[in-house]
Amino acid sequence: MSADRKPVEPGCDQLAAADRQRYALVVHDVRLVTAEGVVPGGVAVADGRIARLLGPGERPPAARTLDGGGRYLLPGLIDSHVHFRTPGLTHKEDWAHASRAAVAGVTTVIDMPNTVPPLLTPQDAHRKAALITGRSLVDFRFHMGVAGDDPSPLLETGPREATSVKVFLAGHHTAPHVVREPAALERVFRTAAQAGLRLLLHAEDDSVFALLDRWRGAPTEYGEYERHRPRSGAISAVARVLELVQRHGTAVHVLHVSTAEEADLLTAAAHVGMPVTFELTPHHLSFTTRDSERLGARVRLSPAIRESRDQERLWQALLDGQAATLGSDHAPHSRAEKLRPPADAPPGLPGVQEMATAVHTGLRRRAPNADADAEADGNAHADADAQVSRLVRLLATRPAELFGLDSRKGGWPRAWTPTSSSSTPTSGGCSGRATSSRSAAGPPTRAGR
Ligand SMILES: [Zn+2]
Repeated sequence: MSADRKPVEPGCDQLAAADRQRYALVVHDVRLVTAEGVVPGGVAVADGRIARLLGPGERPPAARTLDGGGRYLLPGLIDSHVHFRTPGLTHKEDWAHASRAAVAGVTTVIDMPNTVPPLLTPQDAHRKAALITGRSLVDFRFHMGVAGDDPSPLLETGPREATSVKVFLAGHHTAPHVVREPAALERVFRTAAQAGLRLLLHAEDDSVFALLDRWRGAPTEYGEYERHRPRSGAISAVARVLELVQRHGTAVHVLHVSTAEEADLLTAAAHVGMPVTFELTPHHLSFTTRDSERLGARVRLSPAIRESRDQERLWQALLDGQAATLGSDHAPHSRAEKLRPPADAPPGLPGVQEMATAVHTGLRRRAPNADADAEADGNAHADADAQVSRLVRLLATRPAELFGLDSRKGGWPRAWTPTSSSSTPTSGGCSGRATSSRSAAGPPTRAGR
């Protein structure tokens, strides 16, 4: 578990000394991306962390200097939905390898609890952190799980153990801990509200799927999968979740929204003030049922891949700012497991390494005129800037806020955050930085803490 040391707020004397110091690394002539816009500048690194942001043209002395050549510089990205398989499922992938995949842009992951054994108590979190520490190239946090009818460990869970709580309303091969009983689910929502913990929902209704399977039998082709795990299961589960939120006031983040109806319901709930947010995945944004025949088990996912109209609605949720986060749902399996017959092939695919580029590719397809390399066209630059800002909002700023990481991650120091894409940062005056309460999510130099 990463020790979340409070950033030290430097005084004016210290800042003046820092300005005179020789930094370990200076990256100049970059375009710093925030959730609100893009500003020219640079960064100076000392002691393995971003010590200060630089104004345009600023180049303090450093052991190593990199010319960014006008490229974008993003804050470290947060993938708040990964299954890194340690402990107990390391024949699929182990933490060290998963973290190597992540570090292509992602500097923090929040791991799901459905390992073997599962992460169900604060003690489990400490044991898991001990296993990972020293082996991870990225910083990490955990989501706690809930077993059956006893949510009491949530009351003893602090932010060092878990940022939030994952609840499965439908199960599959690696998700045996499904909360099915209405009374048990009620207790989980009530206890999480008492503990001030956010619930993350795999919101699909197991009983809907069980009923359909008893009628139709198991799927015999990959292309049939959506019919066996249809949208009705997801939509009815989200409706049930909203009713529980209304009753208990529990903060809820619905994962991997796959249908137009879920996006509508959750957007409406947030609009009327319910503490509800939702996540999109790169695969639901990238594939439709038309791809299922061609890609077979590789896009056998839970929730299932949906129709084109769903995909369009999910992109609208991304573009309109209705969705709060993107999560890769990185969930690798062995080749032999994925090649099992359709009824038994486990759902999930790896994706932490491609998430940002896959979604950025989709954004560019939707605005083909936006080209970051376009020299002359100011509008094209503005479009390209807006696209990377959206990524930073969904993959850094919002997940940092939702999961309590925003004192250290999710953006640049607050004093530098521009109010529009045209604004230029001031040159880092003492008063500006002394009042900053946020520090940048730097490169993964704190790995394994
Ligand atoms: Zn997942």
